[in-house]
Amino acid sequence: MHSFRYRDGHLYCEDVDLARVAEELGTPTYVYSAGTILDHYARLDTALHSLDHLICYAVKANSNRAILKLLADAGAGFDIVSGGELYRVLAAGGDPAKCTFAGVGKSREEIEYALVQRVYSFNVESEAELEQIDRIAGVKETRAPIALRVNPDVDPHTHEYISTGSRGNKFGIALDRIAAVYEQAAKMRNVEMVGIQMHIGSQIAEAKPFASAIGKVAPIVRELKSKYGIKFLSIGGGMGIVYRRALESGSGKWWRDHGGESFAFSVRDYADAIVPELCELHLRVLVEPGRFLVGNAGVLLTRVRFIKKSGGKKFAIVDAGMNDLIRPALYHSYHEIVPVCRASAATNASQNSITGTSKRAERIDIVGPVCESGDFFALDREMPELHEGDLLAIMSAGAYGLVMASNYNSRPLPAEALVRGNQLALIRKRQTWEDLVAEEVDPSL
Ligand SMILES: *Cc1c(COP(=O)(O)O)cnc(C)c1O
Repeated sequence: MHSFRYRDGHLYCEDVDLARVAEELGTPTYVYSAGTILDHYARLDTALHSLDHLICYAVKANSNRAILKLLADAGAGFDIVSGGELYRVLAAGGDPAKCTFAGVGKSREEIEYALVQRVYSFNVESEAELEQIDRIAGVKETRAPIALRVNPDVDPHTHEYISTGSRGNKFGIALDRIAAVYEQAAKMRNVEMVGIQMHIGSQIAEAKPFASAIGKVAPIVRELKSKYGIKFLSIGGGMGIVYRRALESGSGKWWRDHGGESFAFSVRDYADAIVPELCELHLRVLVEPGRFLVGNAGVLLTRVRFIKKSGGKKFAIVDAGMNDLIRPALYHSYHEIVPVCRASAATNASQNSITGTSKRAERIDIVGPVCESGDFFALDREMPELHEGDLLAIMSAGAYGLVMASNYNSRPLPAEALVRGNQLALIRKRQTWEDLVAEEVDPSL
């Protein structure tokens, strides 16, 4: 359940008017709802209550320390993919003993750091990596807890860039090789086999692929448990969220909020599909949700700079760009875009407060200022008539938003803010032009 709602014609995040946020902090700015993140976490936690489980938030989805602290305080562990993410988790007060370290290309430095901090498990993606971890742990005179990442070869029916559990992509070790690699690991002196892990992809829109993957690995999990006493199975993340809400074109009802539903399938459906089989394995279950926890807990606030008509088309040029939120450019992904202030229900008796506005609808491209044709947020989108200075919210921007942002076109990174109830906190300062050159060094050539 997300907490972005219209009240008297203004879009609110919890009890904070987003127009006020834009006044105070400027645009573009990411705004996150703490209540939404905690609600999503609690719902998943409840759905898995019959299992010995640990929710390891996938830090890469949104790694702001304030978000990590929120989840650490709620009891979450963390799924990290770099030394930098481990550093962030520690800086946020997270517990390294609840961290799993994934990734296909861990460096020596990262492995050493994670060993010293005593992470819960290294999720190992190749035989070469296994040997490297064994070597480094040997030098450090310690044993590295490891889980192999199995590639169960299921098709999660998602975008090819975020599909990770099929044959022929770079992730994991093939199911038919897994037993042999564990046997190899068993002979190594400096690794301890503590679990097995998988992650089949991201933005998966149905519960079935998760169940199929668990079904496929269950026999080997049983075997590994009896042979080596592994303690956990991590089933990865990837649960999909709702990006596209119902559009009723032509009637002026251009956005309908389905009561704030966040997920592509219900948490109950997810649990019903996986919990029975997992229960029978009698080991600890880890889940690694990223997008699911934070995706619909964030929006990107942006202001319309210019309206431009060209080549028979109309464009709204906004002050956010693909450098701030790259998902539309990278995956052609869809984000709802809504005005922060709209004609109030009171002045539009024909409309109710859920179904939108009576302003005239029009088709428009919503694009950023970056010098790339791929710099768009929406193409040919039905919107209420837009004007210079209008404030827009790009919805569902809490995951893979700022973390994928860049300084392309020498644009400073946007600010980030966290809302809790009626409180608003800045959690990342907007970069300045000075910041853009601060790390550059004059060559004395
Ligand atoms: C990215 C990733 C996740 C999280 O994916 P979401 O789709 O955001 O839930 C979980 N586990 C691993 C290993 C990942 O690489």
